[in-house]
Amino acid sequence: MTDHPRLPRYIPTCVGTAYAGMSKESKPGVYGPEQDPNHGPYVLAAEADAEIDRLMQWVSDLQSGMYVNCVYCGHRYGPGETTPVSMADALRAHVEACPKHPMSALKAECDRLRAENARFRKLYHLLARDVIFFSQYDEDTNTWPDCGEFFSPCVLLNDTFAYATADAERVTDDQLDLLIKMDRQFGQSGVVAWAAQVRGSEPLEPYRTEKYCAAREWLRTASPATGAK
Ligand SMILES: [Zn+2]
Repeated sequence: MTDHPRLPRYIPTCVGTAYAGMSKESKPGVYGPEQDPNHGPYVLAAEADAEIDRLMQWVSDLQSGMYVNCVYCGHRYGPGETTPVSMADALRAHVEACPKHPMSALKAECDRLRAENARFRKLYHLLARDVIFFSQYDEDTNTWPDCGEFFSPCVLLNDTFAYATADAERVTDDQLDLLIKMDRQFGQSGVVAWAAQVRGSEPLEPYRTEKYCAAREWLRTASPATGAK
């Protein structure tokens, strides 16, 4: 039950005084003061750990015959539930998910920040590779929101699908992993192939290289779940 290191060490304990004068044969592990008249009785630490385990099991057994309640939402667990966990474990699991317990809000916030951090890392990676830039234009509303309030990751495609054009393709969050994979595997050809797949159209002739065709083929066959249009 516990993770105490099982080292052969001895710790002083007042428990030993209750057995003062007893031989270690009559109470294994507990030594009487005759063992060390200067420091009193000692108990083998491993046996103390075993005793802690036994008492924790006892607490668990006692709790199994009663209800445990969440003080935040009133959720009640037990007795007689058949879930193969202790009452403390059941309550701990509830607390993590209880909408009224402050810990569930912290956990949700922690999950949100982790996801946001992972997204930023992917964006920084693509930015460092010159695969994307941040546009200030919001395609959904066809507006230019306030400076600094909005950024939209896009792949720059000037003069790629048509000559003399300023062109870009927006990258949604669910496409970040695929775009990173295309860049890693095929370089710029992979990125253009990704855009071609998303748009359902082919780039200008100079972009349709052997590597580009390989990337297109890979997207068509090896990656059915690309999420592309
Ligand atoms: Zn609760």
